[in-house]
Amino acid sequence: MILLDGKMVSTNLKNNLKDQVINLKNKYSVTPKLAIVLVGNNQASQVYVKNKIKACEYIGINCELIEVNSEISEHELLNIVDKLNNDNQVHGIIVQLPLPKHINEQVIINAISNQKDVDGFGIDNKGRLFSGLDSLHSATPEGIMALLDAYNIPIEGKHAVVVGRSNIVGKPIAMLLLSRNATVTITHSKTKELENITKQADILVVAIGKANFITENMVKEGAVVIDVGINRIDSKLCGDVDFENVAPKTSYITPVPGGVGPLTIASLLKNTLLAYEKILKK
Ligand code: NDP
Repeated sequence: MILLDGKMVSTNLKNNLKDQVINLKNKYSVTPKLAIVLVGNNQASQVYVKNKIKACEYIGINCELIEVNSEISEHELLNIVDKLNNDNQVHGIIVQLPLPKHINEQVIINAISNQKDVDGFGIDNKGRLFSGLDSLHSATPEGIMALLDAYNIPIEGKHAVVVGRSNIVGKPIAMLLLSRNATVTITHSKTKELENITKQADILVVAIGKANFITENMVKEGAVVIDVGINRIDSKLCGDVDFENVAPKTSYITPVPGGVGPLTIASLLKNTLLAYEKILKK
C-alpha cells in the first residue's frame, strides 16, 4: 500500500505556481489577484479563507478579502460581485460558502463572471465541463486528478466508482474521470446494495461526510481509494473511509488529513492563474 501524500504534491504544485507567477508578471506586468468575499463569521469559513490568503502570499499573488456582515441582503451581495466582475485588476473571485440562509447561494455563484469563477461552481463552468469543453474545474476534483497524476495512476479503462453526487465534489469528479476515459459509476444515498458496487471499483472516490463509512468489505483488493470526507470525532479529524482496516487492502490510499485537502487550495491557485492568463491574453 502506498500513501498518496497530498501535502507533498501540493507543495510541489505551489512551488511550480510560484515560478509561473514570476514568469507571468514579467510577461504581462500585472500581478494576478484573487478576491475573496466572506459573509458573516462562520469559524470554519474563516479558517479556510485564512489558509487561502496564506497560499496566495506564498505563490506571490495579491489577495483582497472583502468581509461583510451576515445581515447583508442578496441584492447587496450581488452588487459586490458585480463590482468585482468589472474590476480589471481582479482575475479570480470566490464567495466563500456556506452563505446565510436568506441568500440563494446558486444565484450568487452564477453571478460571478464565468472567466473569474475560480471555484468552478457556476453553471457555465459546470455545463462546459459536462460538455467536454475548456472550463475552470472545481478545486477539490481538480486536486484529486492532480494527486492521481502525480503518482502516475492509470485512469483510462478503469472502473471508477464515486460515492456522493454533490455539485462541488461527486458530480465534477465523475465528469473529470469520464473525460480521462474511466468507466464511471455514481452512487448516492438511495443506491441499493452499495457494497456490491464499491467492491467493483478500481478507483473508489468517497465524498459523503460520514465518518469511517466505507469498510474493508466494501473495497476490492488492490483498489485506489480517494477519501474526500472531513469529519470530526472527539475533535480528531477522520475521513469517510475506515482507514485503519481498509488501507492494507489498497494499492494507494489518501490519508485524512493530508490527502485530498491540501490539493484543494493549490488547485484554486492554479485556476486563478489560468483565469488571469485567459483575461490578459485577449
Ligand atoms: P454533500 O453533503 O453536499 O453531499 C453528500 C453526498 O453523499 C450526497 O450526494 C449524498 O447522497 C451522499 N450520501 C450521503 N449518505 C450516503 C450513503 N449512506 N451512501 C451513499 N451516499 C451517501 O457533501 P460534499 O460533497 O460537499 O462533501 C462530502 C465530504 O467531503 C464532507 O465530509 C466534506 O467536508 C468533504 N469535503 C472535503 C473537501 C476537501 O478539500 N478535502 C472539499 C469539499 C468537501 P444524496 O445526494 O442522495 O443525498
